Amino acid sequence: MSIAENVHPAGFYTLGAPITDEKVPAGPLEERWDTRKFNAKLINPTNRRKISIIIVGTGLAGASAAATLGEAGYKVTSFCYQDSPRRAHSIAAQGGINAAKNYQHDGDSVYRLFYETVKGGDYRAREANVYRLAQVSVNIIDQCVAQGVPFAREYGGLLDTRSFGGVQVSRTFYARGQTGQQLLIGAYQALERQIAADLAPKLAEDGLVFVGLDEAALLWGTVTVDDIRALLPQPSTVIVKDGEVGATSLSATGTVFEPSPKIDVVEVVGAGDAFAAGYLHALLAGRSERERLQRGHEAAGRALTTTDDVGAALA
Ligand SMILES: Cc1cc2nc3c(=O)[nH]c(=O)nc-3n(C[C@H](O)[C@H](O)[C@H](O)COP(=O)(O)OP(=O)(O)OC[C@H]3O[C@@H](n4cnc5c(N)ncnc54)[C@H](O)[C@@H]3O)c2cc1C
Repeated sequence: MSIAENVHPAGFYTLGAPITDEKVPAGPLEERWDTRKFNAKLINPTNRRKISIIIVGTGLAGASAAATLGEAGYKVTSFCYQDSPRRAHSIAAQGGINAAKNYQHDGDSVYRLFYETVKGGDYRAREANVYRLAQVSVNIIDQCVAQGVPFAREYGGLLDTRSFGGVQVSRTFYARGQTGQQLLIGAYQALERQIAADLAPKLAEDGLVFVGLDEAALLWGTVTVDDIRALLPQPSTVIVKDGEVGATSLSATGTVFEPSPKIDVVEVVGAGDAFAAGYLHALLAGRSERERLQRGHEAAGRALTTTDDVGAALA
């Protein structure tokens, strides 16, 4: 076809090359994603741990994929260069998520969401992918709710929706003006769950483990020192620190608790590392378990009473 043949008679547009999607299966549009899923090779759950997956970026796409594949049993390595996976560009998505749930009974459907997305995308989108987007949109909302994303709700408690982006139906689920942030926090917490699940077996290989009681509660949902020991039975010594309360050592020789000395805290940064340094110093000097804990408290106390990175040296 010549260039002249590609131009609309009134000159309104020029026909471009057809959009090809070579990987999409043949068949009716609305069945292609189901066909793709059915034809995909399945992997036995016991074999998934042998497969390593690298995911670069922890926006909504990357973080969700990493958490989901980790939950499914694959060995996932997730790369993030921000200070936290919560800081991806996805944080900007304030409007909400579209899902063809038709909760408002206003005539919405998977086909309508598909149709309007293709139209809204200036007919440039790959249609089978857009149909898939419309199909899975209904599941994404359920997944986010299960992760704890606080979507806006109506007075009666049902999920609220709004009309967004000029459409005639109300299909946008939102969390006030913070949808992006809240979704990222949900995805990040799902990632955290995988990190915690992976951490316990790794720690089991170590001989000496330092754990904060509050950190363990966040990571593993543990409450007491004994809960932590039950989770980490292998390390020969587990030291559980509980801030201003004290530190407990659990080992084959028994349990030793040493209360924290009373001090005026200036800044907590570095206290955990200082405690470990003091404990290890006494360990290498052949001191008793109680003396090791005391030395740990002493070093932590130096770090807690200064805004410097490192407290004054111990005598
Ligand atoms: C202002 C704005 C408003 C929007 N509003 C909405 C809305 O209301 N509703 C909606 O559905 N969509 C909205 N969108 C679109 C939506 O936010 C994006 O489509 C979606 O967040 C993209 O997610 P993502 O995970 O693919 O990308 P991103 O969130 O950009 O995540 C990609 C991540 O990869 C990281 N990365 C890139 N390269 C590397 C590397 N080499 N190594 C390590 N990390 C790397 C990036 O730093 C980033 O953290 C909006 C977008 C913008 C900009």
